[in-house]
Amino acid sequence: MTPATTFAGKKVALFGLGGSGLATVQALKAGGADVIAWDDSPESAERARQQGITVADLREADWSGFSSLVLAPGVPLTHPEPHWTVGLAKAAGVEIIGDIEIYCRERAAHAPDAPFVAITGTNGKSTTTALIAHVLASAGYDVQMGGNIGTAILSLQPPSRERIHVVELSTFQIDLTPSLKPSAGVLLNLTPDHLDRHGTMENYAAIKERVVQSADLAIVGVDDAYCEAIAGRRSGPMIRVHVEGHGQAQAELIARDAKVFEGGTVLADLDGIGSLRGAHNWQNAAVAAAAVRAFGVEGERLAAGLKSFPGLAHRMEQVGRRGRVLFVNDSKATNADSTEKALTAFRDIHWIVGGKAKEGGITPLVPLFDRVAHAYLIGASSDAFAQTLDGRVPYTLCGTLDVATQKAAEAAAASEAAEPVVLLSPACASYDQFRNFEIRGDRFRELVRALG
Ligand code: ADP
Repeated sequence: MTPATTFAGKKVALFGLGGSGLATVQALKAGGADVIAWDDSPESAERARQQGITVADLREADWSGFSSLVLAPGVPLTHPEPHWTVGLAKAAGVEIIGDIEIYCRERAAHAPDAPFVAITGTNGKSTTTALIAHVLASAGYDVQMGGNIGTAILSLQPPSRERIHVVELSTFQIDLTPSLKPSAGVLLNLTPDHLDRHGTMENYAAIKERVVQSADLAIVGVDDAYCEAIAGRRSGPMIRVHVEGHGQAQAELIARDAKVFEGGTVLADLDGIGSLRGAHNWQNAAVAAAAVRAFGVEGERLAAGLKSFPGLAHRMEQVGRRGRVLFVNDSKATNADSTEKALTAFRDIHWIVGGKAKEGGITPLVPLFDRVAHAYLIGASSDAFAQTLDGRVPYTLCGTLDVATQKAAEAAAASEAAEPVVLLSPACASYDQFRNFEIRGDRFRELVRALG
């Protein structure tokens, strides 16, 4: 844990008692702060009480005594409208921050040179964060990974010169971190997302830009217009990363044909690395290569780290092989954009698709349908998706994932393709049949194992 010593003797209000909220209360208390916490969910409040946390309704609190309001990142600061605690804090002149800010203050106070890599972007954050952490750890560094991925930042070991913090940041977290100043700031890409929570694309991009502007070294994927403009405004040290065929920008690193080039030299070779398939992963890997090189990891140590990266669960995760047939769990693909990545990465696909559809359904994927041998429809979207597939791709209405996996496995085994792929990439939310995408992907993994 990282005790929040910069809050010693202060009185702090905290709203949102999920995992990171609980960790933050403990870190604040360990640092000597007096914390009053609240959550609108009675279960969360009760769980906190049982851990000895002072829980009281902040509507009735005396706000004049608080130094700060700490918000959990899921709690709206601005959009669609500010949470009621935000109104109370502003009326009392109390600053509003998040747990990443507490970490940044701790680092500034005790270990300002501590290596701190911050990763953000619309897509690929978790993969890139895990990849950077993995390569550094496999090169022998003391690495702490957390933030928006896995462990809450204040549950990690404290910042120190000898330890590298690799931290994924969501836009919500950046927005609550006024003194963000990472040693390396990574921005992968920007496309419209969560605009209900950030108002406009401009506002969303401006929040993300802070990771680039504040960093000692910036690493920016410049293949969309927003990131290119952000890179153009940066004056300090920067490495721009470009994936060939995606945008026109000038860049120091170029990913092409599963390789990352710097000038004429190959910095990283991704060919044959199953966990880094697809042009989107070349972007993630190129950015990761730039980040780890800042800590001296290149050449063979970089190659070994990339090669041994296991990948993340539910993101084009290879969950099994039966004879020639490869089984891939891409349950995290909850929209057509994400599924496009998987369809592009494979051929001869037996595609399990469907669930609770997003706007536009699978229509944007029509240009990739020639890669699909057969579609197996599950969930609430089945009738709508059948209409899109009709006359383009043969399909079977399966209803459930169990039936679809069985049918797809049989058909793939009987196909004449060299490497048929049974791909769960639903392009849909899971809520109609599964509580979340993880449970859906876990179920698929079990079904594949049960095939023998
Ligand atoms: P995040 O943490 O930003 O949600 P993940 O690493 O979990 O991103 O990847 C989620 C999905 O986003 C992947 O399954 C893939 O479809 C897509 N994706 C991953 N990396 C990229 C990238 N660099 N550009 C575009 N899409 C990507």
